[in-house]
Amino acid sequence: MPIYRAPLDDYRFVLNELLEIDKQRDLPGYADLTPDLVEDILVNAGKFCEEVLQPINQSGDEEGAHFENGVVRTPKGFKEAYKAYSDAGWGALGAPADLGGADLPISITMAVGEMAMAANQSFAMYPGLTSAAYSALAATGLPWMREHIAKKMISGEWCGTMCLTEPGCGTDLRLMKTRAVEQPDGTYKLTGTKIFISGGDHDLTDNIIHMVIAKIPDPDGQIHDDLSTVNFFMVPKFIVGEDGKVGARNGVTTGGIEKKMGIKAQATCVLNFDEATAWRLGPKPTPPKPGEKRHSSAGMAGMFGMMNGARLGVGIQGIAIGEVAYQNGYAYVHERRVGRALTGPAEPGESADLEIVHPDVKRMLLHSKSFVEGARALAMWTTLNMAVAHSSRPDAEAAGLLADLMTPVLKAFCTDMGFEAANLAMQCYGGHGYIRDNGVEQFVRDGRINQTYEGANGVQAMDLVGRKLGRKGGAAPFALFGQINGWLEENGKDEAMAPYVKGIKRGLDALQGATLWLAQNGLANPNNAGAGAYDYLRMMGIVVTAWMWGRMAKVANAKLAAGQDDPAFYKGKITSAKYWMERMIPECPMLLERIQAGADTVMAFE
Ligand SMILES: Cc1cc2nc3c(=O)[nH]c(=O)nc-3n(C[C@H](O)[C@H](O)[C@H](O)COP(=O)(O)OP(=O)(O)OC[C@H]3O[C@@H](n4cnc5c(N)ncnc54)[C@H](O)[C@@H]3O)c2cc1C
Repeated sequence: MPIYRAPLDDYRFVLNELLEIDKQRDLPGYADLTPDLVEDILVNAGKFCEEVLQPINQSGDEEGAHFENGVVRTPKGFKEAYKAYSDAGWGALGAPADLGGADLPISITMAVGEMAMAANQSFAMYPGLTSAAYSALAATGLPWMREHIAKKMISGEWCGTMCLTEPGCGTDLRLMKTRAVEQPDGTYKLTGTKIFISGGDHDLTDNIIHMVIAKIPDPDGQIHDDLSTVNFFMVPKFIVGEDGKVGARNGVTTGGIEKKMGIKAQATCVLNFDEATAWRLGPKPTPPKPGEKRHSSAGMAGMFGMMNGARLGVGIQGIAIGEVAYQNGYAYVHERRVGRALTGPAEPGESADLEIVHPDVKRMLLHSKSFVEGARALAMWTTLNMAVAHSSRPDAEAAGLLADLMTPVLKAFCTDMGFEAANLAMQCYGGHGYIRDNGVEQFVRDGRINQTYEGANGVQAMDLVGRKLGRKGGAAPFALFGQINGWLEENGKDEAMAPYVKGIKRGLDALQGATLWLAQNGLANPNNAGAGAYDYLRMMGIVVTAWMWGRMAKVANAKLAAGQDDPAFYKGKITSAKYWMERMIPECPMLLERIQAGADTVMAFE
């Protein structure tokens, strides 16, 4: 049976020792965040994930979500677990206090989210999408929607979804066909088909609130292949009146659920909207005057807000799947006996040594550990920047730019690396990893979707290179490079930090070189930017994670020097930090060379 232990020590380390969140009480949401409160949340969330969510992960995968006679049912135990999750208030952690939430900062909600995703990704997506949906509704909805709908989503009484994808449009939302026609009472009739909708229908809650994007046709009924008329709507499964009364079933039916490679307990639905009653969210669109350029509608802002939160959440899923896979691989190689240590038997009295003696096995596990812990620090540092961005601190603007810059990096780098970690854990099991009963292949299947949904990773790379790098004259990469260079200067003379300073500097030189090359050659020929974007994103992921490792090594050195009572934990940090410098940083000059090869050969491919 697969195992999962919430990585509480690592969260304590990142939040308390690395980021020192106790010193951030001036940030929005951090005022009441005492060490005791953080400890209480981590311990109880960890316990819930270990004892309630993880035990139904494998059985949920075997049984899957069912679709029978138009009704979707989740696997055994999911409904009870969802009720327990909601009753414990886990779904309300980050929600606004005036709507019944605990108003805790995203650093805490993401920590809890990671544990839930690691314990049971299929399950955790139901409340995960609900939280993305209620956040968008709370930000853009009318007072009655906040009062009667958002509150019920926050309490867990109702769930929510995000409906963007259609058969002919996923990445390219301009091609969307779903349309919404305004009615005399100000509501809309929304018609179209949305596919691949996570939690699109299920039996966990009585009502489901769909957050849908659709086009508002011109008065002559025409819809355009651009974003100018795309708007953001709320479509409840059962209609909710302005007084909060729940009425008739809306015009949205479930066409079926997808048979998928993984996350089988998650109901991924086809939803057919047939003149469904919809409420437009956000400001009313103003159609362009004749001859005027068509721009994205204001309603898109609500959707992008929802997607940005969800992108970070998917990056965290990558870390989560890496963590649980690593834990299982680690446990297995400490039980399995195979071969002998290269330097002579480690346990001569046994028929063979434990699998962990082999350098290649240690390599696989250390690769995953150094990714998971480094990426966790990076994600938490990013969530701290998000809070700074909303504060009155002088570096608020820079923090916002850094958080924006890191969003596609976290989404793509962490999900690619999380998948690598899952695959390596399966390798640790040998052939047994390929056998379903052992549970580790589920992590590979579940973790694979993280690289694709919420914007395919190649599209994230284009977002990074095409949008984020150049914004405000390159202010975001300047801010990042400035911070890393500042750290290098500060630690340059410290002998104990030499391996990290050297490694980070090497990575940063390559990253700055690539940034300059893309600025010079990507503008002249956009294919150069497109062909190098993926390598650039990976390089940025490696370098910023290396910087996190340098910072963590410094904390670990100090703790060891002070004679900490858990030296193994801190020594483990030093080993992982060194691994990242020795084994990941060398990719950077190689990635630079690939980027500088440009687009010619790639584009010559017919
Ligand atoms: C299990 C599951 C759950 C999902 N949940 C939801 C959900 O809840 N709500 C929702 O709305 N959608 C959901 N999706 C849809 C998902 O977000 C899309 O599948 C994804 O965004 C890609 O869109 P597509 O499948 O149409 O691929 P396409 O847009 O056809 O793209 C195909 C491939 O082309 C490449 N590509 C496309 N455009 C570019 C570009 N500009 N630059 C570089 N490469 C490019 C990428 O490699 C991409 O993978 C889900 C999908 C799955 C499988």
